[in-house]
Amino acid sequence: MVIFRPNIYLNSFKEIDLQELVKRNIKAIFMDLDNTLVSPFQKTADDDVKTFIQNCHQLGLIVIVVSNNTEERVSLFCKELGIDYYAMALKPLNKGFKKALQELNLTTKEVCMIGDQVMTDVLGGNLMGFMTILLVPIVEKDLIITKFNRTIEKVILKILRLKKGVIYE
Ligand SMILES: [Mg+2]
Repeated sequence: MVIFRPNIYLNSFKEIDLQELVKRNIKAIFMDLDNTLVSPFQKTADDDVKTFIQNCHQLGLIVIVVSNNTEERVSLFCKELGIDYYAMALKPLNKGFKKALQELNLTTKEVCMIGDQVMTDVLGGNLMGFMTILLVPIVEKDLIITKFNRTIEKVILKILRLKKGVIYE
């Protein structure tokens, strides 16, 4: 079950201690989009997202959105923010991750994957050897494709008994 366990579990990206990530030698954040940065039904970034990205950049952290959603959805969101992205990433498979790592010339230990889904974001990140942060989904409503994963996720979360704010090594 360890492969499903994030290093950190938080309510929102706003609670992430970016200084702590820098201390842990993280150089890049791979960020999920839907229900992580905004609700799946919100097309563009709000001020909280913009502030978060700015804070990351101020600390020298690269932010890349790695999403399973379509090019159309992800590009619209990211172009306005001026950040790079991988759409149709097929998380938890590693193709998108590997491509991003290669382009950034980073090791797996220098990346933190942040997302709201155990079955895609946490599992995919852990399989790569990234640090992983699980967030509570922004809204309860999911894209249809996510509903199946959520059922399994509920069971896994029960077994893991994660506590928010605790750092699991
Ligand atoms: Mg998501």
